[in-house]
Amino acid sequence: MSPVPKRKTAPSRRDRRRAHDALISRNLVQCSNCGEMRLPHRVCPKCGHYQGREVIEVEEK
Ligand SMILES: [Zn+2]
Repeated sequence: MSPVPKRKTAPSRRDRRRAHDALISRNLVQCSNCGEMRLPHRVCPKCGHYQGREVIEVEEK
């Protein structure tokens, strides 16, 4: 026997629980090297540049 809730969750209580579940949009900044939109404080996924120099290799497809 596994634990089972004693009472049903009312719709209002369920919806209140989900009030904080919405996804938030991440803000994007423009890459100073290629102009692509990227996340701030992250290496650019397109050109691999960060702080004005290339830090990772980017695979060409
Ligand atoms: Zn870039």
